[in-house]
Amino acid sequence: MEHNSPNIIRNIIKEDLETGKLDHIVTRFPPEPNGYLHIGHAKAIILNFGVADEFNGKTNLRFDDTNPQKEDIEYVNSIKEDVKWLGYDWDGLFFASDYFDEMYNRAVLLIKKGLAYVDDLSVDEIREYRGTLTEPGKDSPYRNRSVDENLDLFERMRKGAFGNGEKVLRAKIDMSSPNINLRDPIIYRIAHVTHHNTGDKWCIYPMYAFAHPLEDAIEGVTHSICTLEFEDQRPLYDWVVANCEMEGTPHQYEFGRLNLTNTVMSKRKLKQLVDEGFVDGWDDPRMPTISGLRRRGYTPESIRDFCHEIGVSKAYGAVDSQMLDHFIREDLKLKAPRTMGVLKPLKVVITNYPEGQVEMLEAEINPENLEMGTRQIPFSREIYIEQDDFIENPPKKYFRLFPGNEVRLKHAYFIKCEDIIKDENGEVIELHCTYDPETKSGTGFTGRKVKGTLHWVDARSAHPAEFRLYEPLILDEEVDEEEETEKTFLERVNPNSLEILQGFVEPNMKDVKPHDKFQFFRHGYFNADPKHTKNDHLVFNQIVELKSSFKI
Ligand code: ATP
Ligand code: MG
Ligand code: MG
Repeated sequence: MEHNSPNIIRNIIKEDLETGKLDHIVTRFPPEPNGYLHIGHAKAIILNFGVADEFNGKTNLRFDDTNPQKEDIEYVNSIKEDVKWLGYDWDGLFFASDYFDEMYNRAVLLIKKGLAYVDDLSVDEIREYRGTLTEPGKDSPYRNRSVDENLDLFERMRKGAFGNGEKVLRAKIDMSSPNINLRDPIIYRIAHVTHHNTGDKWCIYPMYAFAHPLEDAIEGVTHSICTLEFEDQRPLYDWVVANCEMEGTPHQYEFGRLNLTNTVMSKRKLKQLVDEGFVDGWDDPRMPTISGLRRRGYTPESIRDFCHEIGVSKAYGAVDSQMLDHFIREDLKLKAPRTMGVLKPLKVVITNYPEGQVEMLEAEINPENLEMGTRQIPFSREIYIEQDDFIENPPKKYFRLFPGNEVRLKHAYFIKCEDIIKDENGEVIELHCTYDPETKSGTGFTGRKVKGTLHWVDARSAHPAEFRLYEPLILDEEVDEEEETEKTFLERVNPNSLEILQGFVEPNMKDVKPHDKFQFFRHGYFNADPKHTKNDHLVFNQIVELKSSFKI
């Protein structure tokens, strides 16, 4: 697929190479392993790996694991799997924690240069002293400690002499800077926690704003691409690179993060949905995670095409989630076999069809891609149709089945509804119809026309199947994501996001494998669920309905 959507980052890189400012590029994708990746991360992955591929550069996968409280190896593994599944292969695989020694040494260098000091103020006090946009910050009483005292205290911090929160190391920059990020930011904190990679070696950990530029510089990253919230941190990024005397000179560039309608993208909220049992794990098909999208049935191609279409800019604003649906329909249109499945079965007996007779009907596997060939569908005296395709007292312009009406069965015959069988509660449980052998599909019958075409399956041979239909997990309302509390967020969870139906599919579906994808006639695209599809038990996730009004 060709893509012409604007990409501000690509333009910068192209210019840097064309003007000879750089002769090569290195990017990185730096997730924190504190959750599973989501579709927003896919945008960052596709951007970082995409530009490197285009300009013969390299891309590292780097785990930004400087915050051990929330990190876990399960997340590391899922992230690797998701990046690969999206179609990318990293050049270097790194952990920020591999650089803890180097980072510590650079912090010591800053202390020696009089550019960092140990502060005994609490984090709250530091926030108070920092001032506001209109009011300059106040110096900490510990700001003017001597280099020797700072060196001694910092070493004792490392050795575990102090408890959590008792001291921090701060960069000594400018307490009256108009940019609050430069008012002596904290660069190391004490945290007596075991790290998934370094174990108990460290009880002090670098802060993101200090660690990230060092990680980039150590790896020779040229373009450190991040989302717009970090724009104000760029001067600090440059300050760290310069004052730590790093050899590499990475630069930070920002783009607008992806937001989608009817979903949330914050890992904290996604984790809450998992932990509190609102979904069946991080890979629940309703989740906007890469693993959830995969399990739902989205393909890497559809996600890449979507990310290319939305482009890369500094704009905020949410993208309509239906746009992603457009790209999965496009991708599956020619690839997915067509088939028939009845989600809410209603038995139909064709009273004039000979008992015991079975005939095989031939149908195209994909009328838009004839190379896929044909399939055989059995037809006999008893079939299932969709409950929703029959109404006893239909409204005007109803063209499906009702008493006395005739419809076409897809790939088969015209049938006419002659009789209704009800149970003791008055529920319709069976229809008796007659068929007209003259009307067989494909024979060129033109004697009369019918307006409705129904899908169906042969009752005797059909294979039972479970269908899972989804609605958006989150009901969209105008909310300020930052202001939203955990409680008000949970009020937006859609209670009807999952519907499970027990129905039937064509008998040739019995060998379906996890992740096989189909277009079920009139119902849209489905994916065989990889967690629940086993041997005889078929479970299909609806990826998208057939049509939407959405146009790009
Ligand atoms: P958290 O929810 O914990 O704040 P995060 O979004 O910061 O998570 P990271 O693991 O730090 O997640 O992100 C890795 C990379 O993915 C970062 O470079 C970040 O800029 C990018 N990224 C994260 N969310 C989005 C998004 N919605 N759109 C585009 N890029 C994103
Ligand atoms: Mg983060
Ligand atoms: Mg974030």
